[in-house]
Amino acid sequence: MSAATGSRSAFPTFFTRRSWAAESSLAPNPYRVELRGRTGAVVWPPYCPACGASARRKLRVQKVFVRRRRRGTDPTVITALNIPYCDACIAEHERIRPRQSPIRHALTYVASPMLLPIFGFGWMTSVWLKDGDSMPRALAGLTGAITSGAILRDGVQALGPALPLLFPALVVACVIAMIYQTRYFRVQKQSEVTRACDFSDNIGDVIAGSRRVYTIRNEGFAQAFTEANRKRLWTGADEKRASYRYGAFLIVVLAAGAVAWWLGYLR
Ligand SMILES: [Zn+2]
Repeated sequence: MSAATGSRSAFPTFFTRRSWAAESSLAPNPYRVELRGRTGAVVWPPYCPACGASARRKLRVQKVFVRRRRRGTDPTVITALNIPYCDACIAEHERIRPRQSPIRHALTYVASPMLLPIFGFGWMTSVWLKDGDSMPRALAGLTGAITSGAILRDGVQALGPALPLLFPALVVACVIAMIYQTRYFRVQKQSEVTRACDFSDNIGDVIAGSRRVYTIRNEGFAQAFTEANRKRLWTGADEKRASYRYGAFLIVVLAAGAVAWWLGYLR
């Protein structure tokens, strides 16, 4: 547990951009705890992080993290934690939590470029339903026209009558993919209550191991949380060890480069 401005690794790593991005999304609560390891291993004391009262129930809090990359698409992850809250704070959360209107909620499902293939394959399905026999022939002609190669045309002819069944199956597959792809838009936003125990994305890496930052509003909860997770606390010693590992990693890379140069691979 420490002040919200806590220390950061002094060693310049490739991953600081990500850790800054992860930390900037945190609620500015007065207490800060940094834990190593998986979120599943975190021990939650039976108190409410918003008011400190005893808590028997838990709220499922979800956050969307975008892991910025220099190149290519940024992978997006959803992290969900079950965090204890007292009954009064759960009631308050239910009252004030941001809600999506039913229309907006419905629209989230179709906010995807998957709509295009769904319409395409749907149209093919309707053609097949109207006139099943002409479909394989028409497709064979079409594929022959757009690809000069005969392989595709032969494949279409070999599939024959079974071919049209492919289109309803593709529609179903695309719908499932679309629901999965758009799940980020349906993640429930945090309320002022659930921001009482906020968490960052994994700010660790393969060298230092995974870890997250938690910011907490209530002092009693912060103390109990720190005590319950003492084994997993990210300490100055861990920081130092990680710095040594980064250093060792750098030396190995440089040594490998020197050997490669000496052997003539880089000359
Ligand atoms: Zn409470």
